[in-house]
Amino acid sequence: MGDADGTPLMRQYRDIKQAYRDAILFFRVGDFYEMFQEDAVEASKLLSIALTSRDKSSGTPIPLCGVPYHAATNYIAKLLRAGRTVALCEQVEDPKLAKGLVRREVVRLYTPGTLIDSEFLPSTESNVLAAVSVRLRSAGTGRKDCSYGLATLEVSTGDYWLSEFHGPQAEAALRDELARLEPRELLFPENLSPDELQWTADLTGPRCCTQPATWFDQEQGRIALQEQFHVHSLEAFGCHILTLGIQAGAAVLRYVRETQPSAPLDHIRPPRVRQDDDAMHLDSVTIRNLELVKPAGRAEESSNQSPYTLLGILDRTVTAMGSRLLREWLLRPLVNSAAIEVRLTAVDELKRQIDIRVRLRTALRIVQDISRLCSRMSLGVANPRDVLALKISVSSLPAIQAELSALDSPLIADLRSSWDNAQDLYELIEGAIEQEAPVSIRDGSILKSGFHPEVDELRKASREGKGWIAGLEAKERERTGVESLKIRYNQVFGYYIELTKANLGKVPPDYIRKQTLVNAERFMTTELKELEERVTGADTKLTALEQALFEQLRTRLATETARLQEISRRLAILDVVAALAETAALNRYVRPTVDEGDGLHILQGRHPVVERLDLSGGFIPNDTHLDLATSRLHILTGPNMAGKSTYLRQVALITLMAQMGSFVPATEARIGLTDRIFTRVGASDNLAGGQSTFMVEMTESAHILNCATPRSLILLDEIGRGTSTYDGLSIAWAIAEYIQDPQRLGARTLFATHYHEMTQLESLREGITNYCVAVQERDGRVLFLRKIIRGGADRSYGIHVAQLAGLPDQVIHRAKAVLAQLESSSSSGRPVQDNQQSLHFDATLPPPHPMLEEVRQMDLFSMTPLDALNRLAELQQRL
Ligand code: ADP
Repeated sequence: MGDADGTPLMRQYRDIKQAYRDAILFFRVGDFYEMFQEDAVEASKLLSIALTSRDKSSGTPIPLCGVPYHAATNYIAKLLRAGRTVALCEQVEDPKLAKGLVRREVVRLYTPGTLIDSEFLPSTESNVLAAVSVRLRSAGTGRKDCSYGLATLEVSTGDYWLSEFHGPQAEAALRDELARLEPRELLFPENLSPDELQWTADLTGPRCCTQPATWFDQEQGRIALQEQFHVHSLEAFGCHILTLGIQAGAAVLRYVRETQPSAPLDHIRPPRVRQDDDAMHLDSVTIRNLELVKPAGRAEESSNQSPYTLLGILDRTVTAMGSRLLREWLLRPLVNSAAIEVRLTAVDELKRQIDIRVRLRTALRIVQDISRLCSRMSLGVANPRDVLALKISVSSLPAIQAELSALDSPLIADLRSSWDNAQDLYELIEGAIEQEAPVSIRDGSILKSGFHPEVDELRKASREGKGWIAGLEAKERERTGVESLKIRYNQVFGYYIELTKANLGKVPPDYIRKQTLVNAERFMTTELKELEERVTGADTKLTALEQALFEQLRTRLATETARLQEISRRLAILDVVAALAETAALNRYVRPTVDEGDGLHILQGRHPVVERLDLSGGFIPNDTHLDLATSRLHILTGPNMAGKSTYLRQVALITLMAQMGSFVPATEARIGLTDRIFTRVGASDNLAGGQSTFMVEMTESAHILNCATPRSLILLDEIGRGTSTYDGLSIAWAIAEYIQDPQRLGARTLFATHYHEMTQLESLREGITNYCVAVQERDGRVLFLRKIIRGGADRSYGIHVAQLAGLPDQVIHRAKAVLAQLESSSSSGRPVQDNQQSLHFDATLPPPHPMLEEVRQMDLFSMTPLDALNRLAELQQRL
């Protein structure tokens, strides 16, 4: 398209598109949203719709495609799923009244992180928009460290949080927080240096978009926040000292403003500060390994219903707010025993009060997503059905209050105090909105009769007018003697009289011809014209008035946001507590004791997820007794498939459940408060990220050793598997010693390994205890008993597992023979391989440094210089 020769419409299009270059512009033309040029080419492909062109004859046709305005939502959703954003450009004045070209403006930018529409949002998941601000600090060593500010906003509920990350672990902590929050969209300043962008490496998931650095300006940001929340200082919210947090917070607000230019944004709640020490810290690896919210290998599967995740097992909530809160509790277990006790007592009470629980849950089931409804009111997009949904939700409040009166646990007593049934809001809506009100506010029939006298009058006029038209039809039939005469209506001509061709001879002289069809003629009379004006005049006025009155009501409800959000918060907590009570009752869980001690004692513990999957023999429960003083590190040996990983995870899950306030699958559990759970489990599949399995394993192990505290719980499964036997064993050995040593770490640890040599540690170091999974050998076959018992496994039974897996008999026989030979040669003192003896560390002498063995084992001829340097650096770091 040549710039000079565009039509006024195309010039207007180009001006608007200029400001929204990254988005696909939906340009309203009549009943369609049209897309032009490259947008049209791309959208027609993504949406599978026809690509045509405008100005075909001009020689420079413009590519064009369009979608009907009423079906736009589906198309927008499709484009968002394809990773695009959509700018919605509306006609902002009535075309009938416009002088010349209709004015058009972008009224909304649809981006993944700013959605509020229930059509796009799974109710059980949060839709988080995040921004990160960065400040570079040079550490003394010349290394560059960054501090980070993080702001998150859930636009659909108005939840707004600020936090900051400092110190050597800042980057890891930020990454973990992002993994937990799973933002849909992530903003950061566009001028970051490579050092400052380090944290974005292998970030997958959110749509990242850089924004002008001015959005992150500290002083401007502070002012923007103060203005948004109508305060003179941010001290009231306790976030005034978070300079980086405020910078990120301001960027988030700015982005929402840019994307929702016509919304008042009153529903955004004052910022809350997320502090690291409020909650147990779960890193992204652990969240994944323990399959808390997503099943491994099925990362894309929607999670709350998945039977393979802890969330799937626990989530028996009946409201959307409850479901989101349960997820939050699960990913943020508490670290304050008094607060945990408060939750457990409430769950306990509802578990015992079966009748109340059942009635309470029935009443809660009626409650809709109040949080998101409120936001829709504030943003001015709520429709009549949304308002009715709010009414229905509020209608349930008195019944819920009645159930609470018989409960007295502190948490519930707290929720019950100054309880608000919002009956005024119920009555307001009940008196105004018709039960069968339509979705669209343009369709009329929204308001109840009796709500507003003018509406009633206009309705009467419209009704009467229609009656008059019916009367006129009868009169004209009689006058002309034509029984088939009809008065009809269409959008283009309005009302008209229709006569078939056969009856044209009977047309009276005062009929004015309007249109000729194949079989009929259409006419107008002055009387009909007058009636028409009265009817359509009343109808137009009526729709406009209903729309205006509805908008007034919506604005009125929006002013109640804070109140409704508080109601929503209380209902969410009740729902979660009742759901946990229900799960506890159905799954035979017991109330754990969580104390300040350092023990971890579980009797007859079970894996909450594995026990629910259909197992023919039933799940075998196991005990756990860890404590810092005497038995802090358990070495767990046993053949593959014996149940080691399941056992490790079960201990972690029970600990986590206890600290989130849930009952646990065991007959008894006493949990000493745990600040973090670390897991290094199985071979990670981060291969796509370009790292070798071994490198991933070592990176994760390093992270654990650097970050764990004596209050942490560590699970290590098959450390060192990714390298040669001796390498692997030495590393596993050294790690175990490090963790065991109270001078260095001394944390409660379960260490599953297939290196039997590790069992020697029990006699060499205090605080280490051997356990194994019992197996029974019968007729040369192995039976897994799944029972964890004291002692070390004497052999690996690898060949038996191979047999179970169906390797050909010849291979199995040959393997047995080779094994026998190897075992006899090693027991006869002849080493199977050089340095086999070095594994039998002498208890009386200080054990030779395992690194010496590693150095000896290096195959210098097959190493590249870079490999060698890397190994050297790694060894140096561990010294
Ligand atoms: P390992 O880590 O020793 O290779 P896993 O923990 O993966 O073994 O368990 C192997 C299989 O045994 C799993 O399919 C699991 O369902 C089952 N299993 C594990 N523990 C138990 C148990 N306590 N009771 C019943 N079945 C179990």
